[in-house]
Amino acid sequence: MAAGGKTYIVEHLDPELGTWSELEYLAIARESQDTGAKFCLSSLPPAFKVPGDLAKIPAFKAETRGVEELYASDKSRVCLLDPAAASDLSPEDGDKFDAFLFGGILGDDPPRDRTSELRKKGFQGRRLGPVQMTTDTAVRVTRLVVQGKTPLKDIPYLDHPELKFNEHESTEMPFRYVKSEDGKPIMPEGMVDLIKKDSDKAIDDMF
Ligand code: SAM
Repeated sequence: MAAGGKTYIVEHLDPELGTWSELEYLAIARESQDTGAKFCLSSLPPAFKVPGDLAKIPAFKAETRGVEELYASDKSRVCLLDPAAASDLSPEDGDKFDAFLFGGILGDDPPRDRTSELRKKGFQGRRLGPVQMTTDTAVRVTRLVVQGKTPLKDIPYLDHPELKFNEHESTEMPFRYVKSEDGKPIMPEGMVDLIKKDSDKAIDDMF
């Protein structure tokens, strides 16, 4: 992949850090480290305890300041990835922007447009196509476009994949993922097990 030098900022918008977000953030940090980029988790509550695995990745930085304060003098170099933006992200945006901003929000179905909290701050916005992605997928796709110079339409996707746990159990994920070479959705390490655990718990709670 082409030279990094980019910063991916996830503005933390949920009150706490759940296991799902933790796995997503670890995946973003590891991939940023491997591709010469930086990953900043901003707007963290002061008492926030950064999980050890995340803290030890050199490309990762935890910030209590919000993105507005961090980029007060250079707002025009920050691009908000916004599902409601008027134009889609293109490889040329890699020359226009140094930092790419994402909502630290869990995906929801139907989407509740919580990215609007960041839209209000006035950053320029770009869309990653019409389908909702998980936060780590949105960062991965942005990196492929702005660092790898691959147009959005040439990235292999899997929409709403079904995860099969065994002969009887499966669940459909309401998101778009990048397709790996073996045809599976790219997900953070440990995510499939977590989803299976959550779905087992939901079934247990019904009884
Ligand atoms: N349902 C959420 C909402 O209320 O906005 C979407 C959250 S999504 C899981 C987390 C972040 O990934 C968003 O805040 C946005 O920055 C980015 N994202 C996900 N899908 C996107 C898309 N199709 N276009 C642009 N950004 C996207």
